[in-house]
Amino acid sequence: MSKIMLVTGGGRGIGAAVARLAARRGYAVGVNYRSDADAANAVVADIVRGGGRAVALQADVSQEDQVLRMYGELDRQLGRIDALVNNAGILERQMRVDEMSAERLLRVLSTNVIGAFLCAREAVRRMSPRHGGQGGAIVNVSSAAARLGSPNEYVDYAASKGALDTMTIGLSKEVAPEGIRVNGVRPGTIYTDMHASGGEPGRVDRLKDAIPLRRGGTVDEVAGAVMWLFSDEAGYTSGSFIDVSGGS
Ligand code: NAP
Repeated sequence: MSKIMLVTGGGRGIGAAVARLAARRGYAVGVNYRSDADAANAVVADIVRGGGRAVALQADVSQEDQVLRMYGELDRQLGRIDALVNNAGILERQMRVDEMSAERLLRVLSTNVIGAFLCAREAVRRMSPRHGGQGGAIVNVSSAAARLGSPNEYVDYAASKGALDTMTIGLSKEVAPEGIRVNGVRPGTIYTDMHASGGEPGRVDRLKDAIPLRRGGTVDEVAGAVMWLFSDEAGYTSGSFIDVSGGS
């Protein structure tokens, strides 16, 4: 029986690369998306064409009822989850903190923090022996921004990733005795559409000369680190972080 993975925000960018690599490593994959059904369906079609199993699952992870519905569909269509990648995340237009509206702060924090909590909660409810499960692993996709703070761009986003890192540490200790490992990956500046959401599609190329490795990263380089954390080689690794940030 193949193991079952849920990748939130799995239709595009880093999440899509993780979903594809997981399928090549034998996982059946739930590919969550919020609104871009075409992108998620294309990832699923690629996986199925390659002989794997995958389903597209629509849900806004910041909404509890939608997270519950998504897990219900995952349970029915693939089975009980073994691996969760909390990857869905947003940032908004670059600005200073003294310009940020409360509505924006709520949107960023509810997706990047509450969404990750809700998805982790539902995963633990299925993985923990306290609930009849057999263990598992969770990887939270954070950001180097958690360490760097993103001044003049998106301090709200950076702070949401700081909260996610704290959740990684606390949850890892809470569920380690139940056979569940929880780790984080902190990408740096990676070529995806996300920078356009901040109003600067060319951001990676603007910043690349200041990165010690002198280039932006690829989604596959992040996916490799995520998948290592699910591997047997990472069996004694929990509450840890891998920085995939070119030395930044
Ligand atoms: P992306 O290309 O913008 O893709 C974001 C994905 O998340 C999309 O599939 C999107 O769904 C999904 N998503 C957004 N909000 C959601 C919600 N409320 N519920 C469910 N899905 C939602 O982003 P990315 O660059 O791949 O980023 C992925 C993760 O890596 C994020 O957590 C981000 O913070 C982190 N990261 C990225 C970088 C970077 O340089 N790119 C650096 C550090 C950390 P739709 O396709 O339906 O819109």
